[in-house]
Amino acid sequence: MVTMNQLFRLLVLVTVCSSLAIAASTTAAPAKKDAPAAPAVDTSKYKTGGCCDKAEKAGKPCAHPCCVKAAKEAKVCEKCNPAAKEAPAPAKEAPAPAKDAPATK
Ligand SMILES: [Zn+2]
Ligand SMILES: [Zn+2]
Repeated sequence: MVTMNQLFRLLVLVTVCSSLAIAASTTAAPAKKDAPAAPAVDTSKYKTGGCCDKAEKAGKPCAHPCCVKAAKEAKVCEKCNPAAKEAPAPAKEAPAPAKDAPATK
């Protein structure tokens, strides 16, 4: 036999349970993140005045094949944008050989 007291307790239980379920579902389901994360290129790595830097300022990607390839991999072309060194190192690459003709002036 169901008394009013039992019925009331059942009602409270159901209310608590459903409110808990709602709370759980709202906290368990965070904001939807269905926007695909586009590969972000670190434009700060662009060499100032470089081809990519100029293109970026013009609002378009650099057209250099090497830069396009790097951009596809969400990278910055290392060929055109060498990593900035701490110290201003002098030209480490060997200068063009067989060009030691003295400047004639
Ligand atoms: Zn470039
Ligand atoms: Zn490049």
